Amino acid sequence: MSIDYDILVTAEEIAKKVKELGKELTELYAGEEVVVIPLLRGAFMFAADLIRVMDLPVRVEFIGASSYGAETVSSGEVRLTLDTSFPLHNKNVLIVEDIVDTGLTLAYIQKLLASRNPKSIRSVVLLDKPSRRMVDTDLHRILFTIPDKFVVGYGLDGPGGFWRNLPEIVALKEEMENSNSE
Ligand code: IMP
Repeated sequence: MSIDYDILVTAEEIAKKVKELGKELTELYAGEEVVVIPLLRGAFMFAADLIRVMDLPVRVEFIGASSYGAETVSSGEVRLTLDTSFPLHNKNVLIVEDIVDTGLTLAYIQKLLASRNPKSIRSVVLLDKPSRRMVDTDLHRILFTIPDKFVVGYGLDGPGGFWRNLPEIVALKEEMENSNSE
């Protein structure tokens, strides 16, 4: 399957930033356990690389979230497709997200997980598209800020659910932008 795209972030740039973040988190949580919670599906690759450079006792739980689509975007209604199976009470929770666009998905998940009384809750995000933000979200770290373009690769999917396996982050040419992503 061919794809027409521009590379926005190379695999080398991602690896460098992920390594730096892993080091920072290792120092931040030194002596503590962390429950890492990737938001499925887009954050699976970022989280897999990140936990391998976190030198800490780490558990991994998953949250699946999907927004109801463009018609309802202003309502902030998010559908939970998978929930954690481990109690988060008094735990250090680290949410790992692929991209923050309007912020509605992450804001919803942050509120949900905060209601379970964790010891701490932080969110680390691979990509930020600040130009479309609708709600404020508390972001501990953003690895890359990008313009308002539809991107795929390194876990993020595009039309038909493909292109998650590209090692870099690419912007699709306009005629290819049309997808419901998770
Ligand atoms: P938000 O709720 O508008 O912040 O959207 C966040 C979710 O939309 C992300 O978790 C992605 O699944 C998806 N998304 C937003 N922008 C893109 C993109 O450019 N490519 C792929 N998925 C995206």
